[in-house]
Amino acid sequence: MFKIGCHLSIANGFLKAGKNIMELGGNTFQYFSRNPQGGRARPWDQKDFEGFMQYASFVGIEGLLCHAPYTLNACSANPQTREFARMVFKSDLEMLEHFPNALYNFHPGSHTGQGVEIGIKQIVEILNEVITPDMSTTILLETMSGKGSEVGRSFEELAEIISCVEHKEKLGVCLDTCHVYSAGYDIVNHLDDVLEEFDSIVGLEKLKAIHLNDSMMPFASNKDRHAKIGEGTIGLDAIVRIINHPKLKDLPFYLETPNEDEGYKKEITLLKNCRTY
Ligand code: FE
Ligand code: FE
Ligand code: ZN
Repeated sequence: MFKIGCHLSIANGFLKAGKNIMELGGNTFQYFSRNPQGGRARPWDQKDFEGFMQYASFVGIEGLLCHAPYTLNACSANPQTREFARMVFKSDLEMLEHFPNALYNFHPGSHTGQGVEIGIKQIVEILNEVITPDMSTTILLETMSGKGSEVGRSFEELAEIISCVEHKEKLGVCLDTCHVYSAGYDIVNHLDDVLEEFDSIVGLEKLKAIHLNDSMMPFASNKDRHAKIGEGTIGLDAIVRIINHPKLKDLPFYLETPNEDEGYKKEITLLKNCRTY
């Protein structure tokens, strides 16, 4: 089955978002755990959640991806920012235990001048604190474009974080097509080589989700500007190869393209038509 969806708001609850993704033709979606630029979470609504779960099993929505707020930075030089990251991690992970085997995606962080080694150490420290052996959620490190002091711009950096975390089995990776292309992985001309490299450094079994985006910026530019599918430097042909690649086809794909509902609906329809399985 082709697992395809997009980023949606849960401002009006999970059930509304579930109905929204059905209207758009998808069968999964990504949402922010809380205000992406701030930190406040909407209060937990058990009735909405139960309504959603019932609706989701009826229509076949599966595998939501929860995205941590952009303000979460586990490796900031500012200890208050790291404390905030700890707090957000703990409370989001607690919320996610309502869902069976949830996925929680976060940006590894920006070391803000401390250097990548210290950055990785601080990320590992927080992950070791917030991961519990009995939790059912898998935390995904997102591949980053490498702008500013971003950590996670290379497969090696992601592998280093994973290898230092005690409960590695709770960790995975979410590959963002726009970000890796900007980071210098040529998924347009050498997709097989990139996946082989990922497999040898991180392990393909760690890859749990794809952020499917085109890019407004040139290859290896270390810039992070998403484009609509087929309107950027990656292009539709490469994106079609990605969704149909034997090593990727069973993963869930989430669009984070600059779109409103209508644009997402068009892209989901297009991708479903380009899917060969
Ligand atoms: Fe992201
Ligand atoms: Fe992304
Ligand atoms: Zn991005």
